[in-house]
Amino acid sequence: MKIICVGRNYAEHAKELGNAVPESPVIFIKPDTALLKDNNPFYHPDFSDDIHYECELIFRVAREGKYVQEKFASTYIDGIGIGIDFTARDLQTEAKQKGLPWTLSKCFNYSAPVSAIQPLDAYPDLQNIHFTCKINDELRQTGYSGDMIHTIPTLIAYISRFITLKKGDYIFTGTPAGVGKVKIGDKIEGFLEGKQLLNFLVK
Ligand code: MG
Repeated sequence: MKIICVGRNYAEHAKELGNAVPESPVIFIKPDTALLKDNNPFYHPDFSDDIHYECELIFRVAREGKYVQEKFASTYIDGIGIGIDFTARDLQTEAKQKGLPWTLSKCFNYSAPVSAIQPLDAYPDLQNIHFTCKINDELRQTGYSGDMIHTIPTLIAYISRFITLKKGDYIFTGTPAGVGKVKIGDKIEGFLEGKQLLNFLVK
């Protein structure tokens, strides 16, 4: 199982970090050791003073796919949920400045909390899905899949040209604006169409 992530997929978020809006999707991968499930707490690591939450719409891959055509892309996913792409922003900024990979800043243990996966059938219009993130009961991120720079079918087609999709993989589709630092004691909640799916603590 792997976690395939998309960076800079919302223009407002690219802008808030001072990044250009990319022509092609920005793709990176987290290992299976990054997964954090069942609303278990996230233990703040000691190697960063600037861990950011990035709330994202996530999809579960239903079957193996290579060179998937966009028109069939939705048949390669069967579940939807909310995930947090935790990022050690200080390490990432340093890596970017040096032209080095983002790996450690994105792929550390438990850097990918995921909600319970919901059947995709209930969300037939992939371009019309709303999600939100609250930190300590305060609304911090509001996402709408219609605002994505690269649509979900485009992402599936693009990724599968390079990396074979396998059943059970997760796809993180990028974060909208409003990312920020977490601290010990914070409560993080993620909602899909108003339904709370994520609710966990930073310890
Ligand atoms: Mg992200």
